[in-house]
Amino acid sequence: MLKLRFDNAFVRELPVDPERGARLRQVDGALYSLVEPTPVAAPRLLAYSAETASLLGIRRTDIATLAFARVFGGNALLPGMQPFAANYGGHQFGHWAGQLGDGRAISLGEVINAAGERWELQLKGAGPTPYSRSADGRAVLRSSVREFLCSEAMHHLGVPTTRALSLIATGEEVWRDMFYDGHAAPEPGAIVCRVAPSFIRFGNFELPASRGDTALLRQLVDFTIRRDFPELDGQGEALYGEWFAQVCERTARMVAQWMRVGFVHGVMNTDNMSILGLTIDYGPYGWIDNFDLDWTPNTTDAQRRRYRFGQQPDVAWWNLSRLAGALAPLFDGVDALQAGLDRYAAAYAAADRANIAAKLGLVECRDDDAALMQSLHALLTRAEVDMTLWFRGLGDVDPQAPTLASLEAAFYDDAKRREAEPDFNDWLARYAARLASDPQTAAQRRQRMHAANPRYVLRNYLVQNAIDRAQAGDAGGIHELLEVMRHPYDEQPGREAFAQKRPDWARHKAGCSMLSCSS
Ligand code: AMP
Ligand code: MG
Repeated sequence: MLKLRFDNAFVRELPVDPERGARLRQVDGALYSLVEPTPVAAPRLLAYSAETASLLGIRRTDIATLAFARVFGGNALLPGMQPFAANYGGHQFGHWAGQLGDGRAISLGEVINAAGERWELQLKGAGPTPYSRSADGRAVLRSSVREFLCSEAMHHLGVPTTRALSLIATGEEVWRDMFYDGHAAPEPGAIVCRVAPSFIRFGNFELPASRGDTALLRQLVDFTIRRDFPELDGQGEALYGEWFAQVCERTARMVAQWMRVGFVHGVMNTDNMSILGLTIDYGPYGWIDNFDLDWTPNTTDAQRRRYRFGQQPDVAWWNLSRLAGALAPLFDGVDALQAGLDRYAAAYAAADRANIAAKLGLVECRDDDAALMQSLHALLTRAEVDMTLWFRGLGDVDPQAPTLASLEAAFYDDAKRREAEPDFNDWLARYAARLASDPQTAAQRRQRMHAANPRYVLRNYLVQNAIDRAQAGDAGGIHELLEVMRHPYDEQPGREAFAQKRPDWARHKAGCSMLSCSS
């Protein structure tokens, strides 16, 4: 029988909305509302993460039970669970959007595992809450598969992220207008149980601040520092300033990791920014195939491309500035907050240099190396070259005789390849010359590069294939992809198909290169 130990600090220590249940409302003076998941017709386990289960101390024999599917499908509660939806606001696409809140996420409780770690469980798609606004509180299978797989893939790639325990089919249909063009259709529903030490977002602080409720804001800050940043000490403004700086540094490291692996979040609104610097809220995200700093997967953002690949570091800074604005009432002046934002810039610059060194296989990144990387980026964009295959193949270039031989598979367009070939050869010669002054042996360098340049990423078309199969009743594609993504830096003989660049059919296909927020 599944038994977990809970310590629900958020619910215990923070002010609650006096009304229970899912009636839509504005909630003032409280940070969450008590609301239970709405049971579903036929909960059925489609996939689970063995690593996340073991983090929580859940045994394999507990997973293959109907009781497990009922709990993580929202049909039953375990002793100690206290379900709630959090109240937060956010800046969406650059504009203050007011109260948003967990419209379809319901937290179940905070597990304390055998190691004493805290892991909050949250169901996504478990039914309406006071924050559902005009929506239904549900999630479709395709977006749930995407969140489930990407959470775990990102973890194995070494990117800070929320985790996913389970993917449960609800046995119910959900109506969605995928491209907001008046063609709503029924789709299978699903629920992901996601897991993180904390689901607090920038928007949790912004909402009380926007209402002038400084007491509530302070209460949440004190709680967050106590529960989620126990390593910090001190008090008053000095403590708050150091905490904000830590948030800035964590955010910088997270975004730098996105840039390293070619991940585009797609909806970097402040309500989708974790205070712990974790990647959160997997929606219309995408992975870079051909290198392009201007690419965004999100069709809802196709016009202005606010959340395009290359803009992510700047957007993170902008979001941190909004958080700084929300925290300002707790500070006498702006200096400490400005210092935090400066820490973001410094941490990002350092992480970016570390990325350059690791991706190019250098011990250190000198000023010239940043320029070397920049000219490579320009070439990769111009010649339409696959980011993942290029950097993986670069580790196999012989500095004594640098050629494109190990890089051929990375090109999408033959004509563009031929046109750019002389410039690539020049670049490879510069690169080889630089390697001559790097102290590592060839074997050391290759190992370092292979640890920074994944062989496998969660390519958009691969996930779409797994979704198509799942919608036809076969969850095997999800399991295969999860298995591949457990070891993204390993060669994995026999699994070469999962490392192939985007096939032609996927270039403009919905779900592969174009995703909307409808989920
Ligand atoms: P997102 O852009 O997905 O982070 O969502 C923004 C806001 O819309 C959040 O407050 C979500 O909880 C809410 N939301 C998104 N989809 C739904 C849904 N199907 N039902 C209820 N609320 C939703
Ligand atoms: Mg969100």
